[in-house]
Amino acid sequence: MNERTRGLIERLASEHRLTEAEYAELIGHPEAAPALAERAVAVRRAIYGDAVYTRGLIEISNICKNDCLYCGIRRSNRDVKRYRLTPEDILACAEEGYGLGFRTFVMQGGEDAHFTDDVLCGIVAAVKARFPDCAVTLSMGERSRDSYQRLFDAGADRYLLRHETADAAHYARLHPKEMSYDNRMRCLMDLREIGYQVGCGFMVGSPFQTPGTLAKDLKFIEAFRPEMCGIGPFIPHHATPFKDAPAGTLEQTLMLLSIIRLIHPSVLLPATTALGTIHPRGRELGILAGANVVMPNLSPTGVRKQYELYDNKICTGDESAQCRQCLDRRMRGIGCRLVVDRGDYKAL
Ligand code: SAH
Repeated sequence: MNERTRGLIERLASEHRLTEAEYAELIGHPEAAPALAERAVAVRRAIYGDAVYTRGLIEISNICKNDCLYCGIRRSNRDVKRYRLTPEDILACAEEGYGLGFRTFVMQGGEDAHFTDDVLCGIVAAVKARFPDCAVTLSMGERSRDSYQRLFDAGADRYLLRHETADAAHYARLHPKEMSYDNRMRCLMDLREIGYQVGCGFMVGSPFQTPGTLAKDLKFIEAFRPEMCGIGPFIPHHATPFKDAPAGTLEQTLMLLSIIRLIHPSVLLPATTALGTIHPRGRELGILAGANVVMPNLSPTGVRKQYELYDNKICTGDESAQCRQCLDRRMRGIGCRLVVDRGDYKAL
């Protein structure tokens, strides 16, 4: 690593920001990754110790009105068997998760018209009433401000909506023309103003991504300061227009996790299932690059394969308890521990 790159790392670690051009330059120096990881882990440990937070992911529907070019459950994919969980199914998943030590439930799904505000508010309220000590996170895509407000009033604490890319032209190449970068950003701003803990994020190695677009993602994170930031490698799905595109790499994902930890020291940063899919120890390596959250699957085993955002997704055949135990073991193996905790954001 040259002196200049070393200098960029120093400045990022002390000032938590670089210029857009400097981010793009740093991304072009993969040999900087180990030094970035070392600093990122020190920052994570100083704030969160050896604790790794868990969130139980409940994939409530794979029915979607959108047609995102990268996503396996896009509307145009006629080969997916569509499903939707009932409120009873969802509560049963949460019940099992609670017994396993989960104190945050993430309800994620496609943009399924069945989940009107009334239906979704009823589910949120029921989960909060049954598990008052738990946080409820929603990840149900783009909705109106009024809808976000109603869900918040019903008890939702957090909302995950990846911005996908902070470059409007890049956004347009990943999405159908009915979707827009401006609306995605509008949603994130509304969520923030309403009072949610907000998660943004992007795929690493998505088609047409460049060091320049990634630098914009990093500038966006610097300015928006999300409570959470979900990043994972893009993985092609066989029935999408991007089926032949290369997957994002382990190395670049790890490097970006470290950079994001240094930009925003207290951010909640998951080592994602996609990272675990491209490498057998991807999630451990993610934690060792500065991540501090894992989100194992609590969905009923029978539907897991159908929530196929990308090919070869891991853990689709396992029971929730197996996933929890497996992750417990993996985290202990790297000197960390899964904690029974809501895992709220710690403002510094
Ligand atoms: N409908 C919700 C949930 C989307 S799925 C929403 O719009 O927010 C959650 C995330 O999975 C997406 O935001 C996207 O970044 C990621 N994803 C989708 N397809 C993927 C793929 N092929 N490879 C990796 N990640 C993917």
